[in-house]
Amino acid sequence: MSQPAGTLYVIATPIGNRDDISARALRTLREVDLIAAEDTRNSGSLMAHFGIHTALAALHEHNERSASRGLLEKLESGLSVGLISDAGTPGISDPGALLVDAALAAGVRVVPIPGPSALTALLSVTGFAAGPALFYGFLPPKNGPRERALETLRTLQATLVFYEAPHRIEACMAALARVLGGERQVVIGRELTKLFETVHRTTLAGALEWLAEDPNHRRGEFVLAVESAPADDSPDASSCDRLLKALLEKLSVGDAVRVAMEATGLGRKALYERALVLSERR
Ligand code: SAM
Repeated sequence: MSQPAGTLYVIATPIGNRDDISARALRTLREVDLIAAEDTRNSGSLMAHFGIHTALAALHEHNERSASRGLLEKLESGLSVGLISDAGTPGISDPGALLVDAALAAGVRVVPIPGPSALTALLSVTGFAAGPALFYGFLPPKNGPRERALETLRTLQATLVFYEAPHRIEACMAALARVLGGERQVVIGRELTKLFETVHRTTLAGALEWLAEDPNHRRGEFVLAVESAPADDSPDASSCDRLLKALLEKLSVGDAVRVAMEATGLGRKALYERALVLSERR
């Protein structure tokens, strides 16, 4: 072993294209005493492909706590462990945080071996101005909680990144369009680095049509990046909602929007959309 003993290496593996694995990831996977993998069968075939014979142990969402305890004992006894997930970077919508947390708390050295992730792969091809980005991961699967979660992000001045499963992609896109507005830009990353890789930029309304027009557009793995809320036209959630709510008590939606435009200087479109949402909730 050339590495210091008792180190936890958190190692990114490909999200599709095996050639994306880094030389450093391969070397580390070869040199550690043990590899903790989300799915040992899956990772076994990746290791076989690269001629790596390091022992594998399972660490997945159903045994994460107990497996992490066992792995921590090994780390404390001086063994080095490589942590990998099924695809991409461990801990990014994947297990790993419990083991890293325990290792840090125990004073074990934790080393990231960076590499592929659907998050950074998509962000690099959005063409959106570099600025704040919020990685949300998977939205709640049911519509009510999903829309409530999106409501908290509606006026955020940051690119929003979501992961989604193929069987929920249409419902997810519909919720994004409803809550964030159909005119916002979205970049759909489908099957990134794989044979049927697609990077498609459109509006949220356009994305719904694109998904509907071809069943192939709804297949595979998805990562979505939605452009930031507009800088000057996004009604401030607390003060603007309070004003609109008070106006809607006495006035029609149209009149409430006219008064709110004068009071805040904000654009008609954003206020109108917000007033409609608030008036439906009353
Ligand atoms: N740890 C991974 C990473 O770093 O990206 C993510 C793991 S998460 C359990 C799996 C989800 O990531 C998929 O359901 C999909 O939303 C997204 N994803 C993974 N690979 C992808 C790919 N090749 N193209 C598009 N999205 C992908």
